[in-house]
Amino acid sequence: MEYSPYVTWYEKTAIKKPDFSSLDENVECDICVIGGAFTGVNALLHATEMGKKAILIEPGKIGFGCSGRSGGLIESGLNTTLDDLSDFYGRLNAHAFWNSTIEARDKIIENVKKYKIDCDLIEGLTYISRNKFKRDDYISYTNYFAHYFENDPIVNLNHDDVQSSFKMPSAVLGMNYLKSGSFNPLSYVYGLANAAVSQGAKLYENTSVISIDEKEKVTIKTENGSIVCDHVIVCGNAFMSEEKSPEKTQTVSTEYFQIVTTPLTDDVLAKIAPNGQVAVASRGDLRSYIQITEDNRVLYGGPEFSKETNYEKFAERKLKELEFYLPDIHGKVTVDYVWSGPVGVPMNYVPILNRISTRHYITHGFNGHGVAMSCFAGQVIVDAILDDDGLYDIYSRIKPAQLPQWVHHAIAKVTLLFYKLYLKRFNA
Ligand SMILES: Cc1cc2nc3c(=O)[nH]c(=O)nc-3n(C[C@H](O)[C@H](O)[C@H](O)COP(=O)(O)OP(=O)(O)OC[C@H]3O[C@@H](n4cnc5c(N)ncnc54)[C@H](O)[C@@H]3O)c2cc1C
Repeated sequence: MEYSPYVTWYEKTAIKKPDFSSLDENVECDICVIGGAFTGVNALLHATEMGKKAILIEPGKIGFGCSGRSGGLIESGLNTTLDDLSDFYGRLNAHAFWNSTIEARDKIIENVKKYKIDCDLIEGLTYISRNKFKRDDYISYTNYFAHYFENDPIVNLNHDDVQSSFKMPSAVLGMNYLKSGSFNPLSYVYGLANAAVSQGAKLYENTSVISIDEKEKVTIKTENGSIVCDHVIVCGNAFMSEEKSPEKTQTVSTEYFQIVTTPLTDDVLAKIAPNGQVAVASRGDLRSYIQITEDNRVLYGGPEFSKETNYEKFAERKLKELEFYLPDIHGKVTVDYVWSGPVGVPMNYVPILNRISTRHYITHGFNGHGVAMSCFAGQVIVDAILDDDGLYDIYSRIKPAQLPQWVHHAIAKVTLLFYKLYLKRFNA
């Protein structure tokens, strides 16, 4: 049993971690990336692919943040709805943005195949609902998508369809996103890092930034070295307490948890998931997800509203929740791993990409629906640096309102309280 926020099932099952030394010299490059996870490593790879001399520095170990401990669901879209986005920013902007999330998701699948990253990728992700009154919504949603987003094919599922691949009795409806999927996120970070290094990029671990100074060039000082570069991209997500960006005031940090059970016996597996590995999630803001892993365990995750420090108790509580969804596992499994991680949530759930100056960029706020977008934002910024502002321009049109941090926190607290009550009331 690994009851620690720092030991994840992914660490036990991912491909071999590439190790990198810390920076102990003065070096120069075109683009320096700070933060070694989905966003940063992807920026590094794209910059290198585009012929730039690129260096990444990571204060800890690569993949240590949210990325390597996430649910690994590779999804298009955002935590908010297309309708809400359209109401706020206009339909054209919302559609352009949504299309970029589809491109982001497809880029991951493309990279897995291009760089032959061994990350247990499965294609196809089913969103389920326990509310039969949502049937009409689901059908009109699928029709809308078929009309406007042909690159995001979705198939509606009825109760029997859902149950045939995943036996969760209370799931009455479903939508299968054929091009979404899931993977081992830590293997993906390692695979991207290997790909970047094989093309000439440099990575340094255990290297914290002491200062960033901009003059004709940017100078980044670390404990034992420095980097002089033309551009810096900061990709620190919810960990970025030191970054002095006005955008920091636009996110609050919330916690996501995950548990992984002991392996299912063959008979229980045959009952619950006759086809083996599968990923299902609930839709909307209240996200939670269940996966059957390639070694036949059940992975369960989602947002967590309590401040639980006793991981053993926490695991018990979460197992009870899981047994409610999957009664067939009751008494048949225990919890082998439990962990959590912080996600940065912006006011409008849209990731923040910001040009602090012509040489200094920052991106964060991918919240709990961030795998695809965090694996793409770095690329969008690198393209902007290389004078292709296309997608960057769309992101700048969809910026969250600037609010003082305490107002943002208060709103987030009240919203989370309502969600908590909603969860209790409807056992959602
Ligand atoms: C438990 C959990 C489950 C999740 N499940 C899903 C899911 O299934 N699907 C989905 O779409 N999203 C999910 N998410 C969200 C998703 O993982 C994140 O949105 C995404 O990984 C963010 O990537 P990132 O590269 O921006 O940040 P991170 O992965 O958090 O990486 C930030 C990096 O910056 C480094 N750093 C620390 N301090 C600094 C500093 N001062 N300056 C610069 N860098 C610093 C950190 O060490 C870290 O390596 C989940 C998140 C969690 C926590």
